[in-house]
Amino acid sequence: MVQSAILGFPRMGKLRDLKKATEAYWGGKISRDDLLAEGKRLRLEHWKIQKDAGVDSIPSNDFAFYDQVLDHIQLFGATPERYSSQNLHPLDTYFAMGRGHQKDGVDVPAMEMVKWFDSNYHYVKPSLVDNQVFKLEADPKPVREFKEAKEAGIVTRPVLLGPVSFLVLGKADRSASKDLKPISLLENLLPAYVDVLTQLKAAGAEDVQIDEPVLVYDLAPEAKAAFKPAYEKLGSLGDKAPRITLATYFGDIVHNIDVLKNTQSLHAIHVDLVRNPEQLDTVLGALGPNQTLSAGVVDGRNIWKTNFKTAIEKVEKAIQKLGKDRVIVATSSSLLHVPHTLASEKKLDPEVREWFSFAVEKATEVTIIAKAVTEGPAAVADALAANAKSVESRATSTRTNNPNVKARQAAVTPEQHDRKSPFATRIAEQTKTIKLPLFPTTTIGSFPQTPLIRQTRNKFTKGEITAAEYEKFIEDEIKEVVRIQEELGLDVLVHGEPERNDMVQYFGEQLSGYCFTTHAWVQSYGSRCVRPPIIYGDIERPAPMTVKESKYAVSIANKPMKGMLTGPITCLRWSFPRDDVHQSVQAQQLALALRDEVIDLEAAGVQVIQVDEPALREGLPLRAGEERTNYLKWAVAAFRLATAGVRDDTQIHSHFCYSEFQDFFHAIAALDADVLSIENSKSDAKLLKVFVDETYNSHIGPGVYDIHSPRVPSEQEIKDRINEMLVHLKPEQLWINPDCGLKTRGWPEVKGALTNMVNAAKYFRQQY
Ligand code: GLN
Ligand code: ZN
Repeated sequence: MVQSAILGFPRMGKLRDLKKATEAYWGGKISRDDLLAEGKRLRLEHWKIQKDAGVDSIPSNDFAFYDQVLDHIQLFGATPERYSSQNLHPLDTYFAMGRGHQKDGVDVPAMEMVKWFDSNYHYVKPSLVDNQVFKLEADPKPVREFKEAKEAGIVTRPVLLGPVSFLVLGKADRSASKDLKPISLLENLLPAYVDVLTQLKAAGAEDVQIDEPVLVYDLAPEAKAAFKPAYEKLGSLGDKAPRITLATYFGDIVHNIDVLKNTQSLHAIHVDLVRNPEQLDTVLGALGPNQTLSAGVVDGRNIWKTNFKTAIEKVEKAIQKLGKDRVIVATSSSLLHVPHTLASEKKLDPEVREWFSFAVEKATEVTIIAKAVTEGPAAVADALAANAKSVESRATSTRTNNPNVKARQAAVTPEQHDRKSPFATRIAEQTKTIKLPLFPTTTIGSFPQTPLIRQTRNKFTKGEITAAEYEKFIEDEIKEVVRIQEELGLDVLVHGEPERNDMVQYFGEQLSGYCFTTHAWVQSYGSRCVRPPIIYGDIERPAPMTVKESKYAVSIANKPMKGMLTGPITCLRWSFPRDDVHQSVQAQQLALALRDEVIDLEAAGVQVIQVDEPALREGLPLRAGEERTNYLKWAVAAFRLATAGVRDDTQIHSHFCYSEFQDFFHAIAALDADVLSIENSKSDAKLLKVFVDETYNSHIGPGVYDIHSPRVPSEQEIKDRINEMLVHLKPEQLWINPDCGLKTRGWPEVKGALTNMVNAAKYFRQQY
């Protein structure tokens, strides 16, 4: 019989209950016991949902109060000394690592948090020391939660992050010697895994899921070599440990398949057949005579209803080779990356809603597919028919297919991706029309989103004020922001983005092909959740999106005004994309819509236009090679298509919120923007050297101060920073701006910081 499995379930709850509880605990509004009780309630509720859906392998230990990797840091006693020495309650030590702790004389910053593979989830990076000692915590969490479920009558399959991934995803602590490679600590770590596995078995766990997602990466030789000994050791426990299902996701493992050959100690291998269905044959060929395949055919990363027909085809192929008892139907990855339930969405267009499936619905999907292949299609005939109908309706709907968009895409020419002249000609033209001093000052776009702005927007959304009243309010905000910038003496002004709730949602709401949810939150990090819009159809711009505000701003300003747009790749990456057309197609559609907007802004008298692409880098495929090369091609092409339609004397800016350009410089240069602003204040100015080495001539504004903190940088600090930049960049190339937008800051610190920034720029103008 074919079993069904889920690799992990979202933790937040239907109404972001976990977020509310943890934040209430941090704010001192509920007790520790209250928080623990809420965690327990959510775990039980989520297990029950999966049990009621009929799922065979239900995960436990997928729950975390902050992050599952952080759980493992604590589980294995790898808490850095600076946290463990504070004598906090273990739960508070845990939160201190996740988010820092500044209370009652204790002051420790958070540990480093980075993106979980190519998702929008962030994990806490294990930070390891020389000869790191690992020791399983007393009453280990995975065992505790397994017992908790068992007491409620649900036998679960606990989830552990595997030893190799735990180390590879970690880093050497700043107190460690420079050449410490975390993977060298494997010998020290394995006994803790032996310990937890034997305790799980003793508690009654027959199966365990061990995640080794790093297998989808190009691994360093020593990391790759670590797999065999690690799993031989864990496998040698035999009956003393649960059977191991080794799970990989977000990519294929073909390039690392030799690692898994002859590892008979592994009961099953899980692979992501949504992202990489083509790996099925290789993986089937590599399985030993008794090994099981866990086929990830229900998408854990996106919100689309599974196409049962194609999913069943994949599973049937595995069954033909292995037989029904050696195949499991599973989600492609943990469902952590999708929202809780579609049932909460009351406002979606019914036609479109019919195409979606969130975590609760996906739980049922795995069981239907498992039943279909076990008992034959007749056993689930109604479900299959309904699914086929839904798939058909999506494929043929006029909501997804827009012939105008397709015709326009077919007519895109290579020339449309190129500005009329090279940078040298353009900048000469721009200098004539946009009068700017040396070291021009500007900001990245947003100014403080005050409580009043948010309240007024809410009132407007709820219909408590009229559109005319809201528009008037926004105009007044723009007027005030322009006045302040003029008073501060900035050179290129912005309108402040008061009308925007979010840099992607604001555009999505005005484009056809996009829809929005009311409760579809997914965890981004800790208690922070995001609600990505959904791209369901061909994207078109029915009307200008930002021209009214920018035109107004131009009309009242006595300095050049910068128009502000979110780039095609960022619009794509911070949404749930379609899975029925390639992302490059969606990027091009977004680019065409933005191209029209850019041209309309130019026609409205906006001489400087910034197209933000903070997500360009995070979209980079996980492995070097063809996929990455292709991504860079189509992503760069989308930006160029969006921006190249302007005259030479219109200045195109772009902005990036990251500072690692070393391996990425060529892509950035290929955008052919006139001016780039980049985050830089927290990095070494030496990084800017790449722009010199590569003889980059376009203008560049490396952020001169960090906007993530309310701290006001002194004029001297900013001058020091600019001096460091001038070691690498030419004076005529350098712009002076903050690291990023100012929307999360308060007005007093913004005014203080920008005053110092403008004064620093003036000082350098006198020097050159
Ligand atoms: N223009 C945007 C702002 O200033 C850019 C935000 C970003 O890069 N994340 O808010
Ligand atoms: Zn930014």
